[in-house]
Amino acid sequence: MDATFWGVRGSVPAPGPETNRYGGNTSCIELRTQTGALFIIDMGTGAIPLGRKLMIEACGKGAGEASLFLSHAHWDHIQGFPFFAPVFVPGNKLTVYGPGRSSSMLEGILEGQMNPHFSPLHTMRNLGATIDLVAVNGMAKDPSFDCAGVRVSARLNPHGATQALAYRFEEGQRALVYASDAGYPSGGPSDEVRALYHGADVLIHDCTYSPEDCAHRRARGFSSIADAARVAVDARVKKLVMFHYDQDYTDDILDGLAERTRRLLDDLGGDAIELVAAREGLTLQL
Ligand SMILES: [Zn+2]
Repeated sequence: MDATFWGVRGSVPAPGPETNRYGGNTSCIELRTQTGALFIIDMGTGAIPLGRKLMIEACGKGAGEASLFLSHAHWDHIQGFPFFAPVFVPGNKLTVYGPGRSSSMLEGILEGQMNPHFSPLHTMRNLGATIDLVAVNGMAKDPSFDCAGVRVSARLNPHGATQALAYRFEEGQRALVYASDAGYPSGGPSDEVRALYHGADVLIHDCTYSPEDCAHRRARGFSSIADAARVAVDARVKKLVMFHYDQDYTDDILDGLAERTRRLLDDLGGDAIELVAAREGLTLQL
């Protein structure tokens, strides 16, 4: 699997000279499996430049296929969807996995942002591509299913007043976990979520805040870098990838948070864990 970051911000895009190095787009990751299948994790504004790139490939000819995995439906995870160029091309086939008790409930949520009050597109039915919606039950006894030869598992994390799905993608012996927008209770993640993270080669984790900023914004349901370091050590992952930065953090602030996260990992006994601060354009090979 190769994972390429197209958007690493939380909440709202943060363009400008002070965020150029890490990038200002909201959450979006392109995952390429060994067989060449295309997975996209979350559809923040990073999906817009990703869509442009895909249009040069099969998606531009109406022969594209992709599986989209949504963690939840906050703006920064779906706002790129109506601007993702492959959705307008007849022949393209997109399967959207996301939280919801039913596919019609998931469809209703995605249709919400197409409402004429918010968008000139009116409805997903105006899009040219074939779009299938699959609701993912993050509470199921067995949360796993197969997708293009990859074992996908999903579990719900608390996220303020709502919940967000964390995903584990396993191909062969390699495992990548995506856990953004996670506001754990004081005891940390649930046993089911701990099992989802366990031993992952790569854990892409919510690092929205510094511990100080997180302390007075707990109700928003995000993780601090200290929360991320703690779960990475507990889950014995090989690599922790910082992700979903607060929109007000400049590149220089993020450099400082990455250094601090390294120290937090070392202090917790996680000195063997490799640390990467995600930025737009970065590709990780598993
Ligand atoms: Zn978010």
